[in-house]
Amino acid sequence: MKQVNITINGVPLTVPEGTTILEAARMLNINIPTLCYYEKLGCGVGNKPASCRVCVVEVERRRNLAPACATPITAFDEGMVIHTNTQRALKARRTVLELIMSDHPQTCLTCAKNQDCELQTLAAEFGISEIEYQGATNRIPKDASSNAIMRDLSKCIRCRRCETVCSKVQTVGALTGYGRGFSAKVATAGMMPLADTSCTFCGQCVNVCPTGAITGISYVKQVWAALNDPSKTVIVQTAPAVRVAVGQEFGFEPGVPVTKRLVGGLRALGFDKVFDTNFAADLTIMEEANEIVQRLKSGQNLPILTSCCPGWINFLEYQFPDLLNIPSSCKSPQQMFGAIAKSYYAAKLGIDPKDLVVVSVMPCQAKKYEASRPEFANDEVRDVDYVVTTRELCRMFKEAGVNLQGIAESEYDSPLGESSGAADIFGVTGGVLEAALRTVYYLVNGKNLEGDAVNFRDVRGLEGVKEASVTVAPGLTVNVAVASGLGNARKVLEIVRKDPGRFQAIEIMACPGGCINGGGQPYLHGNADLLESRMKGLYAEDEAKTLRLSHENADIKQLYAEFLGEPGSEKAHHLLHTCYHCRKK
Ligand code: SF4
Ligand code: SF4
Ligand code: SF4
Repeated sequence: MKQVNITINGVPLTVPEGTTILEAARMLNINIPTLCYYEKLGCGVGNKPASCRVCVVEVERRRNLAPACATPITAFDEGMVIHTNTQRALKARRTVLELIMSDHPQTCLTCAKNQDCELQTLAAEFGISEIEYQGATNRIPKDASSNAIMRDLSKCIRCRRCETVCSKVQTVGALTGYGRGFSAKVATAGMMPLADTSCTFCGQCVNVCPTGAITGISYVKQVWAALNDPSKTVIVQTAPAVRVAVGQEFGFEPGVPVTKRLVGGLRALGFDKVFDTNFAADLTIMEEANEIVQRLKSGQNLPILTSCCPGWINFLEYQFPDLLNIPSSCKSPQQMFGAIAKSYYAAKLGIDPKDLVVVSVMPCQAKKYEASRPEFANDEVRDVDYVVTTRELCRMFKEAGVNLQGIAESEYDSPLGESSGAADIFGVTGGVLEAALRTVYYLVNGKNLEGDAVNFRDVRGLEGVKEASVTVAPGLTVNVAVASGLGNARKVLEIVRKDPGRFQAIEIMACPGGCINGGGQPYLHGNADLLESRMKGLYAEDEAKTLRLSHENADIKQLYAEFLGEPGSEKAHHLLHTCYHCRKK
């Protein structure tokens, strides 16, 4: 590739042809503010529509200011001289910000994005305390039609990040440009309520929106009310990916698991018992590995698809209704936990399930929708009552003055708190399949994998699609695929349609990288290194455990012995399995 010599703020630099001015400036640690631009994640979205013009710079011998994010340095630009902080550029940026803010509700203090909003941060950096421009403002009713995602288009700055992630990364296309000029917005087709569209509630648009225009619907108030209701026993479960992300909000090293402090923090909030979704992940593996072995033996209904991600299930139900019979019938770990808590555990406590409140801490917005699905209730008692995301939990901690740095470490309660390392890796792409393969090996061979053989490294890593051939017994090789991000899921499902015999087992996660990058996790702001740290944190948690196989979990053995019988039993089917429906109207 041709190299081009340029100068930025007087510093000479040689860059490959095609590098943008923004990328070149960042090579020299020169900060140019951005708003619509979104750094490309290792397995996610890159967005440079140059719609906001906050990143304009001066280029010598060019009359107009150039948007740094969308101006490539070409072979014809040899000797280009760029100035990033001239008075003209700074004035233009300030004007852009003031114009955006003149049409923005001044509700920062009550906004879900307060202190996490990129517009708010830039306004503070530019010292904007008064808005010079006054005039008409767009005020549009909020859309809270789903149980998961809230849209407040009055706060939309038309950056189109959400549209890019939804259409290009997820290939869902629920959002699109709408209207022109002053009234232009990014919205659903025909301004339909989100609940009536193909939206999967994955929350990837929430993750990239720079303002509070798209957020999760919060159930935090209801959780506080339950915690303060003496007639209720309130228990909480924490998903695998939460433990490697929650520390980010309290100054821990990125990706370091802070599991015991998380448990201590939840006790400080007043939960009666603190349990682990990992326990239910082990339970999922007991049921799912049994199902895989049955299908491999019969040769029917292959490939089997994992079913623990509700965002992915929503995608399947809308986009691939012809394949509804092939996912595993297992409920997700969140819902398995709820079903067991409201039956087995409520009976152990001797209380009416109506008086037991199950709260989930999840990395995910789609889990809110999942918990509200009609099939996940018994006599109108919901299996899971409320879902809060990792981000929302961090706000609860801060509101209650709980700092995870200072909190005493604590252990999960029993009997729904014990878990294996196989359960930890549910939080990262490839982890569910790896956990299942460990138990499939045991079921087929009657003995455990030993030493390094427990690690199925071919299905690890943040690539969007991974394929591997795994020998689970002499003469039995299983072809597997792993996809994360719904665009990658679509690619794999198109293969299944054309060549159903190519794979026998497939894991799919809606979020690129898996739940570590879920729509409710502390914001990555485009930093792919943070995602990688979370992945490493989960594998470290797995490797640090003596118990690394789901079927060796003593609490799980006890649950089957006392209550469920065996994997696939009638009771297990009633409580732990489900079926899928076409969502397309
Ligand atoms: S909703 Fe958010 S991400 Fe989408 S265009 Fe508006 S401001 Fe940008
Ligand atoms: S939640 Fe996911 S599917 Fe729905 S609009 Fe956002 S990115 Fe698209
Ligand atoms: S990958 Fe995880 S966080 Fe993302 S939608 Fe699925 S379950 Fe939720």
